[in-house]
Amino acid sequence: MRVVSWVGKGGKTMLTTKLADNAYDVALENFDAAADVLGLNNDTREMIKYPERVLTVTVPVRMDDGHIHRFEAFRVQHSSVRGPAKGGIRYHPQVTLDEVKALATWMTWKCAVVNIPFGGAKGGVTCDPKHMSQGELERMTRRYTSAILPLIGPEQDIPAPDVYTNSQTMAWIMDTFSMTKGYPIPGVVTGKPISLGGSLGRNEATGRGVFYTIQCACEHLHTPLRGATVVVQGFGNAGSIAAQLLHDAGAKVIAVSDSTGCIYNKNGLNIPELMHMKALTGRVEKFPESEAITPAELLALQCDILVPAALENAITAENAPAVIALIVAEAANGPLTPAADRILESKGVFVIPDILCNAGGVTVSYFEWVQDEQHLFWDAQDVYDRLERVMKTAFRDVLKIHLDRKVSMRVAANMLGVGRVAEAVQLRGIYP
Ligand code: NAD
Repeated sequence: MRVVSWVGKGGKTMLTTKLADNAYDVALENFDAAADVLGLNNDTREMIKYPERVLTVTVPVRMDDGHIHRFEAFRVQHSSVRGPAKGGIRYHPQVTLDEVKALATWMTWKCAVVNIPFGGAKGGVTCDPKHMSQGELERMTRRYTSAILPLIGPEQDIPAPDVYTNSQTMAWIMDTFSMTKGYPIPGVVTGKPISLGGSLGRNEATGRGVFYTIQCACEHLHTPLRGATVVVQGFGNAGSIAAQLLHDAGAKVIAVSDSTGCIYNKNGLNIPELMHMKALTGRVEKFPESEAITPAELLALQCDILVPAALENAITAENAPAVIALIVAEAANGPLTPAADRILESKGVFVIPDILCNAGGVTVSYFEWVQDEQHLFWDAQDVYDRLERVMKTAFRDVLKIHLDRKVSMRVAANMLGVGRVAEAVQLRGIYP
């Protein structure tokens, strides 16, 4: 049993006991907390809380040694109330249907927080991509695409990369989808290579968005970014780009980790060189001028900004008491359990919640989709400027609710996202 708290009607903090740490339970709790403060009626909750469509598929793949392996895979569309469903595809051994449902739910509120005209979706294949060849990954991706084909399309549901998928994965999906239709349809996925209709700035969009929200948080807290100490858990796409931009802005990234290990240098790591080494070797461990530390030590380092950028449930009731940070910027989706959230809040940590912090990725995905639909492409600076405007506006909107309504930043972000979807569904009414 875990103790979970949230702010109920009238801003009153309520306590309940419940098993929590299943990501989907967390997503539902986040929804309830926001819906309570918004005073949403039951009919509206029934309309927007749960996924609209859930698809589980079997993906048989001929492996390199000749045998056929069956993978289980999912696509969940949580909402199409404000526009086509939108969300990444994850390849990971621990992918479950509940995880995909949680991630799809968060996508709905995230798109609404940054006010882009998309709903939420997510996909996943339970597999171990690190132990698969390129050929196996390609065959699995193509078969998965054909299995979810009835659900996806530029007007319906638009996948993108997530953990252990990338622009090459998107190129295979785009090709498979286009071959079945008989003509190229780049708008079916985002996060594509530039030469296939991808957007400049998409690859670094999530990390860049994380950076913009950290800038806003520092400004709000009157903390200079220059000289601030930073710890990044998960040196992948989101984490490494955020680290790079923070380093460029004069912050000192003192520790980072990936699935292979954690490294630390109290004077700051040379991030451009570390990115170079990670690109060459696929790992951060044994980086020169760094010492190895444990994952628990990494999270307990005293720092100004802690960026969890790996997976869900990284910070729990067990390790949250050890966190000594001014700001926690959730580059990952769902890195804090509700119990951890409560502990950090009681310690006065300023949390930039995931559905705001990492929304840069889906924002530039939206830009990519717009460019594909218009067959007109923007330059990188144009993308960065638009992204900065969207992220900083969203931050200000969430901060205003946080201050006016005296709720946590997470509840405030969920109130903004849920409130926009609720308004849309009330205007649309119920069919038939
Ligand atoms: P990625 O695969 O590029 O990077 C993930 C990184 O986390 C890898 O370096 C991996 O080694 C590391 N990692 C895995 N387990 C770890 C552990 N236990 N401890 C430390 N490091 C660990 O994935 P990504 O796209 O950067 O996604 C990371 C998180 O950001 C996910 O939660 C994802 O949903 C979220 N996110 C990503 C995007 C995007 O556009 N890429 C957008 C929004 C949210």
